[in-house]
Amino acid sequence: MTKPACENWWKSDILGAIILKPGRERSVRQRHPWLFSGAVDHSDGELLAGDIVQVFSASGEALGWAAYSPASQIRARMWSFDPQDVINEDFFRERLTRAIERRLVFRDHRVTNAYRLVHGESDGLPGLVVDCYGEFLVVQFLSAGVDSQRDLITQLLIEISGIPNLYERSDLDVRGLEGLPDRSGTLAGKTPPEQVIIYEHGLQFSVDLMGGQKTGFYLDQRENRHKIIAYAQGARILNCFCYTGGFTAHALAGGAASVLNIDSSTTALALARTNIELNHLPMDKTDWISADVFQELRKLRDRAESFDLIVLDPPKFAATASQAEKAARGYKDINLLAFKLLRIGGILFTFSCSGGITPALFQKIVAGAALDAGVEAVILEKLGQASDHPIALNFPEGDYLKGLICRK
Ligand code: SAH
Repeated sequence: MTKPACENWWKSDILGAIILKPGRERSVRQRHPWLFSGAVDHSDGELLAGDIVQVFSASGEALGWAAYSPASQIRARMWSFDPQDVINEDFFRERLTRAIERRLVFRDHRVTNAYRLVHGESDGLPGLVVDCYGEFLVVQFLSAGVDSQRDLITQLLIEISGIPNLYERSDLDVRGLEGLPDRSGTLAGKTPPEQVIIYEHGLQFSVDLMGGQKTGFYLDQRENRHKIIAYAQGARILNCFCYTGGFTAHALAGGAASVLNIDSSTTALALARTNIELNHLPMDKTDWISADVFQELRKLRDRAESFDLIVLDPPKFAATASQAEKAARGYKDINLLAFKLLRIGGILFTFSCSGGITPALFQKIVAGAALDAGVEAVILEKLGQASDHPIALNFPEGDYLKGLICRK
């Protein structure tokens, strides 16, 4: 291959280059971190998964540096848009330091001791997720790029965060898309106990860091769980997809009359009960059903049940825009049933964490559900993910959690 003009080529660990098709450098110029396979004309060098490559436009202009991922449709993820950068230990130290400094507001543990320290693309570290749970960090390496830097990132996280106990939970489906096997286990320091107690807005939660969903807790919903307190007083509540009882504990703390909880995971329901006890909240005001929400909502409708407040916080139905249509049907179904089950004046907390569904589309789906349910409803509040899950303006896909509080 011809030597790229950039002097850094010879200074760092660069093993090769990728050259884009004519016109396909546009997204890189807009500082979007993903390069899809269809944009790549060819690569130079013997490239392996995770290798650092220099990115060139079709006319030979150096555009920056990326991590190569041959198995994925996202063929490369940009480390830097500056051709003068060198992607080495100092680069990662600087990126991780910046991400951790952005969370200094959480450091005094006033609101919680469980928060996200590194949020992938939005922190300039594509595919890296680091969540802090008290004295433990839980780490996910979700792209070939960060996976190949695993040892360095582990060492730097300990150095910068001052937390020596790291547990790996690289066991998400997206690893498969990158051609990476699942991996979990202790990376450094102490192995977490089976249940780690964290606190959030004055309540305590028992979290299973090693086996729970995601890294153990849905940290992105922190502020939205807190919101329910204002609507809960005296309310008969239905919490669908309740997981370990986050919304339920806050609702009971806010004076709810009763909370009916539905989740398909019996493990999650068991931990949810533990969490109610942990906070000395009234267990006799709760009921727990291990079932499929889609089916259970129909049963409740057939029995003509009615609620003052309903929470719908389903799992991701669509990871990508291509699955949006099927996902939209799922959201419409549960929202329509929820509108029917609400009394007039009742409140709906409804969420979507599907990256493939935009906030505008989600609102349209909920509007369609209200229409088909024959209900007039208004939006009281629009909700999103907590601020430790920031959305980089150059990465709109990071705007994944959408929520609406509606009144019937
Ligand atoms: N609101 C929760 C997080 C919900 S995560 C919190 O604040 O912590 C989504 C939950 O939906 C998971 O607990 C999962 O077990 C459950 N789930 C997924 N599919 C389901 C289905 N079809 N019916 C019932 N529960 C389901």
